[in-house]
Amino acid sequence: MSTFRAPKGTNDVLPPDSGWWRHAYRVFEDVAEQFGYGLALTPLFEDTEVFARGVGGDTEVVEKQMYSFLDKGGRSITLRPEATASVVRAAIQAGGVQGRLKASYWGPMFRYERPQKGRYRQFYQGGVEYLGSGSPEADVEVIEFGYRYLERMRVPHVDVHINTIGDAADRARHRTELIKYFLERFDELSPDSQRRVETNPMRVLDSKADTDVIADAPKPSDFLSDEPAEHFDAVRAGIEALSIPYTLDSTLVRGLDYYNRSVWEYIPRTYDAAQSSVGGGGRYDGLFEILGGKPTPAVGLAMGVDRIFLASEAAPPRSLLDTFVVVADDKKRTEARTLVSELRREGLRVDMTDTVRSVKAQFKEADRSASATAIVVGDEWSSGLVAVKDLKTGEQQEIPIKEIGRWLRA
Ligand code: ATP
Ligand code: MG
Repeated sequence: MSTFRAPKGTNDVLPPDSGWWRHAYRVFEDVAEQFGYGLALTPLFEDTEVFARGVGGDTEVVEKQMYSFLDKGGRSITLRPEATASVVRAAIQAGGVQGRLKASYWGPMFRYERPQKGRYRQFYQGGVEYLGSGSPEADVEVIEFGYRYLERMRVPHVDVHINTIGDAADRARHRTELIKYFLERFDELSPDSQRRVETNPMRVLDSKADTDVIADAPKPSDFLSDEPAEHFDAVRAGIEALSIPYTLDSTLVRGLDYYNRSVWEYIPRTYDAAQSSVGGGGRYDGLFEILGGKPTPAVGLAMGVDRIFLASEAAPPRSLLDTFVVVADDKKRTEARTLVSELRREGLRVDMTDTVRSVKAQFKEADRSASATAIVVGDEWSSGLVAVKDLKTGEQQEIPIKEIGRWLRA
């Protein structure tokens, strides 16, 4: 019989290793709530046009990395390579944003990439979108969000690389100068970049194959008009006030088309350069209009959970359990099951074997589950007691059944 393997570029994560992932998700939800972000649930797939237009036709993502197919109704569908376009599409569909809308998401993204460490075809992002605000304070808040999340996930030595790419008019002037510059050094560029010189020269700045040419290219900051420049000053002052370490990176443009003004990436200094960013974000004031909505300023970020996993020093709790119930008297199995049920309803994490086993075998399972304690249901039960064993010290004591929940929580 043939056996199956997960598709190339995808990963299975099973217990107990998935403990880190559950932890990463819970911390993300916690930080999102602390910062006042609600939850956005959108489809894992969209009309291909949502991404083709929303992400931008000349980007790596749209040109090379989309999982697109025709469904049985003949529609062109794409598995989401990122979620910002979906969240904005959803906000427009819901009638647009009145005031502010702060939304977060978590889940798999799909990109047809060359798989390597930290780069997969299905990967996970947690992200936030701050819709309806053009204030630099919103940029600062979103930048801080990612930084605090990485702090909570114990990713050491994170540096925020930050740049401004200006507004549409600034980008147009930058573009003209970039084309001139790249045409002068055309022969040194990779074929992909050569193709983009005239269609989308900003994208060339994001190429990983042309770093020498890029280093001397005209920078977005050379073409900045007053308002975006002031905006950027305010963003920098804001993150300085919060003591978030950052580096001005005048070559940073980011891979997706919709950004303007602030763009940033989170880079752990201990990390190798090829897949260095564990997250990134930016302002995207033009995206609502691109997707057919009313002009709505917005800023957001996406954190790359797979790469945070590689960089994180966080150790989630080794055990899934507060206690393991051992049945020493087979006639008390139903009572033991009932006790397990009661303790679970009290909020405790409890397990027991699925069938009659020797006491020795049950303790072995308790040890393997790394439970902190075991409760023995045996002779003492008729006197209203159970034996509780501390599985680290081996100490054992008898506790009234009614008090066991309170005792375990203490
Ligand atoms: P890169 O330049 O490394 O390809 P990107 O600019 O394409 O990254 P974004 O689209 O900004 O990445 O996505 C935000 C985050 O998602 C990245 O910082 C990274 O941590 C993560 N990420 C992006 N693509 C992948 C992938 N194929 N596998 C794992 N993580 C990814
Ligand atoms: Mg990429």
